[in-house]
Amino acid sequence: MKSPPHRYRSFSSHLREIFGCRVHRVAVDAGFTCPTRDGTLGRGGCLYCEEAGSRAAYVEPALPIREQVRHGIEHVRRRYKAEKFLVYFQPYTNTYAPAERLRALYDEALDHRDVVGLMIGTRPDYLGDAGTEKATRCRAAAQHTPAPLDLLEEYHRRTYLWVELGLQSVNDQTLRWIRRGHDFAAFEHAAVAARARGLRLCAHVIVGLPTDRREDHLAAADALNRLGFEGVKIHCLYVSRKAPLGEVYAREPFPLMTREEYVERVCDILERLNPRIVIHRLTSDADRRTLIAPLWCLDKGGILSAIDAELARRNSRQGSRYRP
Ligand code: SF4
Repeated sequence: MKSPPHRYRSFSSHLREIFGCRVHRVAVDAGFTCPTRDGTLGRGGCLYCEEAGSRAAYVEPALPIREQVRHGIEHVRRRYKAEKFLVYFQPYTNTYAPAERLRALYDEALDHRDVVGLMIGTRPDYLGDAGTEKATRCRAAAQHTPAPLDLLEEYHRRTYLWVELGLQSVNDQTLRWIRRGHDFAAFEHAAVAARARGLRLCAHVIVGLPTDRREDHLAAADALNRLGFEGVKIHCLYVSRKAPLGEVYAREPFPLMTREEYVERVCDILERLNPRIVIHRLTSDADRRTLIAPLWCLDKGGILSAIDAELARRNSRQGSRYRP
């Protein structure tokens, strides 16, 4: 039996509207690092982030990008019956290199007849914006012009491009605790600069961080509306043995959300979001071999069904409480 449509604007149906067929992401690892790993802003990475920077299991980072794309397409085509693909530069900070190197990698990724676009994950403080202090960091990483924003704007004109920015929380206390190395103001600044170039932006938000309250999550939804984001990924906080958070949790356990709390909070956020924003994901990809807690986050299908059921119970949907 066909399940009823989601009460939110899902990424898969959005892609089908645009391309007229099933389109799926293919993740690659271009061998970057992060300023929170290499000593520029810190060591060990953001508190919740696993050693591999949350890399998909099928990715073979030792291969050149061209081969990773080919191999990834074979895997994803078989598994999801997809016809076209977006190459997803996923782990680490994918604008953290000289522009010439970025261009070579992005071009290599696009050089496949079934690739229809790119998704580039990065940090807001490594996006680059001429004339600002944040750009200084970026220029130091990029060394040459064009700065990442110029380059991304060029790819935005050439192909179907999503730029993914980690927000995680609007609460600066939380951002300090998770060792992000930037504050909410840096995120806002980067978003305004990127939107001024017309870039299509998607934000990552974590639900379940112990210093965040419901007001922070609603404020995050309001901020994404106000800043003109076109996509969002909501992740549930989980504790992995492979992330620094694993040690923190073992030393000093803190309360994690129950599945019911998570589902309710996600629905609160969805109701508050602009109905035009595309929902890229509402769960996390935890590895059961290294997951400490909460175990319910492994049941992604169950969580998505519970979100649908909760929205139906409320008789609401994405945007029901949106305030333009
Ligand atoms: S969350 Fe992003 S910026 Fe932080 S360590 Fe992981 S990949 Fe790097």
